Amino acid sequence: MTRGIRVPAAFEPAGKRPRRAGSFALRFWSVRHASLLERLYAAFERVLTASAPLLGWIGYERLERPVAAAERLVKGALFDCRMCGRCILSSTGMSCPMNCPKGMRNGPCGGVRPDGHCEIYAEMPCVWVEAWKGAQAMRGGGAIEQVQPPVDHRLKGRSSWLDVARGARSGSGTLPS
Ligand code: SF4
Repeated sequence: MTRGIRVPAAFEPAGKRPRRAGSFALRFWSVRHASLLERLYAAFERVLTASAPLLGWIGYERLERPVAAAERLVKGALFDCRMCGRCILSSTGMSCPMNCPKGMRNGPCGGVRPDGHCEIYAEMPCVWVEAWKGAQAMRGGGAIEQVQPPVDHRLKGRSSWLDVARGARSGSGTLPS
C-alpha cells in the first residue's frame, strides 16, 4: 500500500531524506539488542562524564559541530536518530521516538493497528510498540513508564552526547546561552 513512498518523521534533520517504507532493518536490530546497547551506552556515558572537564576546557561550542556530526552518523545508522538534542533512548527501549510520524514523545497513540503497525504508515511497525519490546529486555526498562517532557525544539540538531557531559559538569544539562 505504502511501499515505495518515503516515510517522513516529525523531525527531519536538514539533508536527511526520509526513510523508504519497509527499510527499517537496523533500527529494529537495535531494539532487539537493547540490552547490549544499554550496557554499551552506560559505559560510554561514564566516559562522557569523566571527560567533562577536558571537554569544558576545549570548549563545548567549539566541539558542537564535529561531535554532532559524529553523533548523527553513529546514531543515524543505529537508530534513525533525528538529532532532537535530548536523547531518551534509554527510556524508550532503544527505539527513537522521533521516528513516530506524529512526533510523540510519550506513546503509543490510540491509533496503533491490530498488527502493531503505525496508523499513518501501515508498513512501519509502531515506534512505541517497538519501544515497549526493547524496554522489556533492558535492566532500566521501567523508565518507559515515566512521562517525558515535550521535545525542546531549541535543541534540534545539537549533540545530546555533549548535553550529557555538559549536564554532568554543570548539573543542569540545559541549552547553553
Ligand atoms: S531521542 Fe533524539 S537524540 Fe535520541 S535517537 Fe531519537 S532523535 Fe536522536
